[in-house]
Amino acid sequence: MSDSVQSEALRKSVYRGRFAPSPTGPLHFGSLVAAVGSYLDARANGGEWLLRIEDVDEPRTVPGAAEEILRTLAAFGFEWDGEVLVQSRRLDLYHAALVRLQLDGEVYPCACSRREIADSSSRVSVDGGLAYPGTCRAGLGEGRAARSWRMRVPDHALGFEDRVQGAQRQNLAHEVGDFILLRADGQYAYQLAVVLDDALQGVNSVVRGADLLDSTPRQIWLQQRLGVPTPVYAHLPVATNAAGEKLSKQTQAAAVNPLRGSAVLADALQFLGHPVPLALRAVPLAEFWRWAISAWTIGKVPAVRGKFPGG
Ligand code: GLU
Repeated sequence: MSDSVQSEALRKSVYRGRFAPSPTGPLHFGSLVAAVGSYLDARANGGEWLLRIEDVDEPRTVPGAAEEILRTLAAFGFEWDGEVLVQSRRLDLYHAALVRLQLDGEVYPCACSRREIADSSSRVSVDGGLAYPGTCRAGLGEGRAARSWRMRVPDHALGFEDRVQGAQRQNLAHEVGDFILLRADGQYAYQLAVVLDDALQGVNSVVRGADLLDSTPRQIWLQQRLGVPTPVYAHLPVATNAAGEKLSKQTQAAAVNPLRGSAVLADALQFLGHPVPLALRAVPLAEFWRWAISAWTIGKVPAVRGKFPGG
């Protein structure tokens, strides 16, 4: 391809990014960092930025949290494109994809309980749990009933180039095992919902927290088996508290306060390797965003996790 043809093609492919919070509590500094990073990367590339509420895990969903997250994002001056997509309203789509994977023989029913896996697996998975040893892969044993559905994974290394974390490789068979798409409690797994929605929404650039880096090979494998494109990935450093734990609802991370406006956004940007001039910590939000979009350079974002400035 000649240079001019290539740049024409690049100009035509619109960058489409997204922020996809799980409504398990209010927006805290860690999730704000992912919002700021994905927003700035989209806007600095002249792209679109979509919002998706990932409430597919019903037991973890906190009533009212989605609305509160949207209110907080709006109060910080984020402007999203199009309608907010809500996963709990899209269960039919996840069901249809699972049926297709069943017909293609990509998934199989599994009867194993957590206890049985603990008793039969000796391999630690990338999630810190145990890699599934493949007990039900060749069929359910006599008198055993299906509890969940698992995706078959390959025994070879799957690689991708992350824009922040660099070259990544993972052997799914060794490091994860066949993973769940439909859980024993009837809930669709995050891995399935995120892959389908990114594909159906035409998301071609994913910028999110590095806590999801280890999930990416599972998502790429699903994309390949479903025949949908793989987005470009950038995994941002994860904010931790003083004890070195990831900020989350479980570690009781405090909600960010939009009344502190640009000062909080400046902390997030600083955390992402972009020092913010002192004067900009007190400017109106529109002015802050104008500066931040022009300053954004993904190459400056550090790969390693860092401490939350207030923690
Ligand atoms: N819903 C996920 C979370 O809040 C993020 C999913 C993603 O960005 O792929 O951790």
